[in-house]
Amino acid sequence: MKIYNYAAGPAKLPDQVISQIQEELPSVQGSGMSILEISHRSALFENILADAQQDLRDLMKIPDNYHILFFQGGGTGQFAAAPLNLATNHRKIALLDSGHWAVRAGDEATRLGFDMDTLASTKNIQYQSLPHLPENQNLDQYDYLHLTMNNTIEGTAYHQPVRPINTELVADMSSNFLAETYNVTDFGLIFAGAQKNLGPAGVTVVIVRDDLVHKVENVPSILDYDLFVKKNSLYNTPPVFPIYTAGLVLKWLKEIGGIDEMQKINEQKSQMLYDFLDQSKLFTNHITPSDRSLTNIPFTTGDEQLDNQVINAATEHGLMSLKGHRSVGGLRASLYNAMPIEGAQVLVDFLEDFEKHYQGGH
Ligand SMILES: *Cc1c(COP(=O)(O)O)cnc(C)c1O
Repeated sequence: MKIYNYAAGPAKLPDQVISQIQEELPSVQGSGMSILEISHRSALFENILADAQQDLRDLMKIPDNYHILFFQGGGTGQFAAAPLNLATNHRKIALLDSGHWAVRAGDEATRLGFDMDTLASTKNIQYQSLPHLPENQNLDQYDYLHLTMNNTIEGTAYHQPVRPINTELVADMSSNFLAETYNVTDFGLIFAGAQKNLGPAGVTVVIVRDDLVHKVENVPSILDYDLFVKKNSLYNTPPVFPIYTAGLVLKWLKEIGGIDEMQKINEQKSQMLYDFLDQSKLFTNHITPSDRSLTNIPFTTGDEQLDNQVINAATEHGLMSLKGHRSVGGLRASLYNAMPIEGAQVLVDFLEDFEKHYQGGH
């Protein structure tokens, strides 16, 4: 039975990349040593790191005045690193409350002693639409606006550019990094944990504009942007294997034709599922259509027991990890970059079939 993995993260990697890892594991680039055992100071790894940085720069068209850094600590680590490194002037950040991960980011900043203002929230409508900035509001009292570009749990995404007035934009792109095209120059800082679209858990990408990076007192070394720029992400031992794997995924994405091409495929996959859900009499996705995510699609029958029945039947058919996040319930299909179009089709076919039989039984 062919297995399809719809997990929200850690998530599916391209089959081609898994095969390449398997092949190269005992001897990376013919070195006679495994990627799991080489020094991060070796020429071999320095090349792997440089290639990953260059491929990411090419794919996202990252201008020269932006640094590409690799950290550990996940998206959550950056919830602390972003305010510690960037909120040094007013010690105050603005937030649009679009769901779970936005709240987490705000809570972490508050915990570290920064002021945090929520400028808009859609909590009262269960985050089924995105919150937006109040029109023409001057944000010069804030060091930056924090935005969750794709809300992994709720299933919404900002597809249009957001341009706050007189402050920087900081974007958590953990769950739609490289899945749709954004203009890097709209952002002061972009960060993303690898384990959704880029690689295995353990490495976090930071893309930061040069003029925002400066020496800050009392920042732990492991979260210090200035230090990581100076040391080219090699201040201490970096996550060697996740960076290597991310490098392979970036080369795979280049072969596919880059982010524009990937976005088209992601639109096609998600549209197949949304089209099915919108005509279904059993399943519903509650998100405002213009705000719908390309990568994370929650849906439900409206009946918890029936949802569980669907999840169990899907698992028996090899369609794995469709359980929704515990805070939302229902089902969720994550259709990240590595999920082929076939994976969306197989899911739609299964749901269609389930609905037919369900109605047949009543
Ligand atoms: C998964 C996720 C995170 C948390 O990432 P960790 O690596 O587990 O800390 C943060 N933000 C978003 C949008 C996510 O999807």
